[in-house]
Amino acid sequence: MAEIAHEKEQTFLITTARPTRRQVQLAVWMLASLVVALLITMPFARTPLENTEIFLPAYASAILVNELFTAALLVAIYAVQRSAAILVLAAGYLFTGLLVVPWAMSFPGVFNALGFDMGLQSTAMIAVMRRIGFPLCVIAYVLLKDEDAAGKLETGPVQMRIVGMVFGVTAFVGVATWLIVLGDDLLPGFMEDTRNVTPLWSYVPAVSVTLYVTGIVLLWRQRRSVLDLWLMVVLATLCIEIVLLSYVSGGIRLSIGWWAGRICGLISASMVLVVLLSETAMLYGRLARALAQERRIRDARLSEMEALSASIAHEVNQPVASMATNANAGLRWLEREYPEAHETKAALTRIVRDGHRAGDIIRGVRSMFNRDSQVRVPTSINDLIAEVVERHRAEMRQSHVALDLQFKADMPVVTVNRIQIEQAVANLVTNAIDAMRSISERERRLSIVTGLGDEFTVLVSVADRGAGVTPAHAGEIFKPFYTTKPDGMGMGLMFCRSAVESHGGNLWVEQNKPCGAVFRFTLPCSIEVAPQYLRDAG
Ligand code: ADP
Repeated sequence: MAEIAHEKEQTFLITTARPTRRQVQLAVWMLASLVVALLITMPFARTPLENTEIFLPAYASAILVNELFTAALLVAIYAVQRSAAILVLAAGYLFTGLLVVPWAMSFPGVFNALGFDMGLQSTAMIAVMRRIGFPLCVIAYVLLKDEDAAGKLETGPVQMRIVGMVFGVTAFVGVATWLIVLGDDLLPGFMEDTRNVTPLWSYVPAVSVTLYVTGIVLLWRQRRSVLDLWLMVVLATLCIEIVLLSYVSGGIRLSIGWWAGRICGLISASMVLVVLLSETAMLYGRLARALAQERRIRDARLSEMEALSASIAHEVNQPVASMATNANAGLRWLEREYPEAHETKAALTRIVRDGHRAGDIIRGVRSMFNRDSQVRVPTSINDLIAEVVERHRAEMRQSHVALDLQFKADMPVVTVNRIQIEQAVANLVTNAIDAMRSISERERRLSIVTGLGDEFTVLVSVADRGAGVTPAHAGEIFKPFYTTKPDGMGMGLMFCRSAVESHGGNLWVEQNKPCGAVFRFTLPCSIEVAPQYLRDAG
């Protein structure tokens, strides 16, 4: 049970939820816009923008904040999901985020006034570490995800691992920066002067692009989640950035092409953060709506319960009182000087009948509250209805009722308690057949139609050509023990409504055209099929 709940939780997370078609379109649209921006920049790319160093601290701060927030949100997801892959990705973001600080501080001409001068090669070396470290973490994320898929999720204290990761990455960044700054003379000569790169630098973009493309290919192979989709876009954006920084701008720092590349970098650093935040807000909204609906249903059920228990007490009281009266009468017939066997038998027969009636009432109530009522499984509503209809074929033949089934193909799945919903559909079908028994002037036809309702629901309509339900009675018929049938119990529709509402759906009755009644009910689609729902609903 705990595992089912855990699995359900997973389908809500952006690390496991599949991307919708709209999200894929947005991702493609974003990439296309960036490529267009790259093409527009090309003719002016090498034009230097003098004195723009002053913008670098602001740029670096934005990257730092975005990447640290992304890392923090990923860590929060890790705490829920316990996937090592997510922790490695969070480490990647923390690593590049922290490294941006020494990168900006060592950038020639930016913090000189404060007395920072870290040597010619330091900035380039830190940039190399960021360029290579991040895609390596993404690749590790993809490979570790395979392990997660094989069910090897971490167990044990997550706090220790999170603290270990944060401490490890911070210490690594600190030590690496310290070594780079101290050993500037020993570093490879990537920079000719403060603005221009040496031919040695050409290896850096080549290696980075290879790693980015490897990451994209690995992610493409899996394409399991929303996060995978946006990580592909992040890597593609980083590719565009490096092309702008190293090739289009000819490696000239602070040129138009170089700044365009930096903007790409900023977009890339913000992307996963924006997606994480928007998905979190969306999930929060969905959760708030679900809670409000649950509370409404609970309140409604409570007052229904009060009415129901009063009605049950009243209904059971009747046959029990009648049984006592008949038992007394039977005894009196037996106590006579010449016992009246015939009258006694009649009294006993009435007692048996009342006993059955009381038993039926109790059975009906028990079926509503039995323990299995919480077990819900993903179900095809079309298959469920087809099964119920099959069971009623003989009854329909006997009552000369024609059947018209209109099932929408590819209906989204609903997660329901099969027994309850089957029982609800069976009640509606039986009522429809009953309603047409006295009809002789027109064809007796039962129509069952399935389709999509509003707000991620499936809609089922059960229509008959009987006498119909007048608007005045439309509310009454759902009340317990309301019946117009001589042998009816009046609990069927109350049960149907209670079953449908406990699944988060609605049941109501309308007038059928040109005659009869149509009972309609909705059931929410399983949350994981929302994308399919959106596609089908057009
Ligand atoms: P029962 O079938 O035992 O009477 P229900 O709760 O299922 O209990 O139905 C309550 C009443 O609603 C029925 O007695 C009938 O008067 C009315 N009703 C239900 N379904 C239909 C229908 N399809 N057409 C007309 N009246 C209906």
